[in-house]
Amino acid sequence: MARGVQPDKHTAYYELLDACATGGCPVCTLTLAAVTSYLQAITYEHVNDPEFRDAIVAAHGYCNTHSWRLRELRVALGTALMYRDVIRDAAAELARPSTGGRPDLFGAGQGQGRGHGGVRDRLAALAGKEAPDSGGRVTDPHRACPTCQERDRYELLYLEALLDHTQDDRMAQAFTDAGGLCMVHLDRLIATTRQSATLERLISLQRECLLRLHDELTEFIRKNDYRFSSEGMGAERDSWVRAVEIIAGKPGIR
Ligand SMILES: [Zn+2]
Ligand SMILES: [Zn+2]
Repeated sequence: MARGVQPDKHTAYYELLDACATGGCPVCTLTLAAVTSYLQAITYEHVNDPEFRDAIVAAHGYCNTHSWRLRELRVALGTALMYRDVIRDAAAELARPSTGGRPDLFGAGQGQGRGHGGVRDRLAALAGKEAPDSGGRVTDPHRACPTCQERDRYELLYLEALLDHTQDDRMAQAFTDAGGLCMVHLDRLIATTRQSATLERLISLQRECLLRLHDELTEFIRKNDYRFSSEGMGAERDSWVRAVEIIAGKPGIR
């Protein structure tokens, strides 16, 4: 698969330190960079690789976030080649003889009974597991986006590396200076790790970060009161933006 450079544990340590130095969730920073490299590799080097083209067609294109990332990266030709296949497939889907049901572009409908299966079935086959049953409800049609899967893989890799180095003083300091993990990645870490001692250490550092941000927000709110506005803002000036980021993750992570 066309994946970006796989950092070994030693490399990941330094990558994490650098990402912490740029501020905000280091796992967001590194994962977003990895996704960018992945999309560039796909659209420049692997766009004619049938394995990739099939996966993108089966997923009916990338999710909203990653589709628009293609535009931001201005990978015009690669996008045109990939999405032409996706659009051709969608047109073919609409041209199939009706079996009485609605066209089922994303395989989310009920009881379609088509021999070839909807996209959801084909994705399940690609993923080697049964597709989740949407029960005909409207769901995110792109939830099997191949780039989301790649993003998930990188997130885990960096979360594991972070956990491995939580006892390291330099890492702990860099991590708290950065402001800790966003909630998306903290939640993911808690859900996927079994290393209880290192997890406890990381959660304690994270709690420190949250309390510090809480105090900055309190100061920001206080200085928005006209009685104290003459004091001028300090480091708390952008605390509200950092609050958005720690709650939601960096832009484009989900
Ligand atoms: Zn994050
Ligand atoms: Zn995606």
